[in-house]
Amino acid sequence: KTSGRNRYAIFGPHMDELIRTRRDLEQDLRAALEAGNQLEVFYQPVYSAASHEISALEALIRWWHPNKGAIAPEVFIPLAETSGLIDRLGAFVLKEACSTAREFPDLDIAVNVSAVELGQRHYAAQVFSQLRQFGIEPSRLELEITETALLDEAGVCEKNITALREFGVKFALDDFGTGFSSFGRLQRLEVDRIKIDRSFVQAFDRPDGGVAIVRSIVGVAHAKGLRTTAEGVETEEQSEILRNLGCDELQGFHLAVPMSKNSLRELLGTERTK
Ligand code: C2E
Ligand code: CA
Ligand code: CA
Ligand code: CA
Repeated sequence: KTSGRNRYAIFGPHMDELIRTRRDLEQDLRAALEAGNQLEVFYQPVYSAASHEISALEALIRWWHPNKGAIAPEVFIPLAETSGLIDRLGAFVLKEACSTAREFPDLDIAVNVSAVELGQRHYAAQVFSQLRQFGIEPSRLELEITETALLDEAGVCEKNITALREFGVKFALDDFGTGFSSFGRLQRLEVDRIKIDRSFVQAFDRPDGGVAIVRSIVGVAHAKGLRTTAEGVETEEQSEILRNLGCDELQGFHLAVPMSKNSLRELLGTERTK
């Protein structure tokens, strides 16, 4: 009886509320896509480990909800994926990113792509057309995918990846090491770069931690001709270790936080090294 009541307390009203919140948020996201002024693309500089210079920018979506304030992408991206809004959201980010790439011609641009978007038959064609419209060299665009994109049974993701790579677009495997894929999977991986998940970097000071793992990821990646970016670099010490491990690019709060386009303009007008 007690457990029954607990269950009710946990799954009853809360569940209801969750579903309602979800539905409301979905409506709000739909409205945000129409309104246009609630969504903003931020950019986080990526630094070359060797030259200490900014080599690229990663586009990261922000949603400023009119009453709820900032909503985390981890909350609304999955919502967009299940409600059919991810295509429009992705198109918005890509367009913004292309316009930024045109403004900063010496920097590459990285854009996160959901497996749901990549699973659409016309995805590659949409990217081509966007690049052409902005006059962006395809090799300056790097699409960041996660492992789920590589598990697509219908093979549409793979077809899009192949078509885009033939055109010159680059691919990065995001959050490497957090999924269920192993080094073995790297064999047939059609990517150009591996982004080492920040959990490994943040485990550097633990005795069982990150250094050995990152060393082997970098080793395998380089043996396969792939570049590596370390995510979540929060201290100078981590930065030093990663440089010594031969990591190619570094990204994290220690180097630069994700910022608005205006802040980016300010930064790029003054300091470009770290
Ligand atoms: P991600 O692609 O792994 O992006 C890196 C996340 O780590 C970003 O969170 C960034 O703000 C954060 N980060 C950067 N440096 C540090 C650091 O030094 N320490 C820590 N603790 N965190 C750091 P954000 O912007 O909240 O994005 C979260 C996730 O949402 C992204 O993870 C990505 O999977 C997804 N996302 C963001 N923008 C987009 C988008 O335009 N499209 C899609 N499909 N997904 C997106
Ligand atoms: Ca990413
Ligand atoms: Ca990541
Ligand atoms: Ca992530």
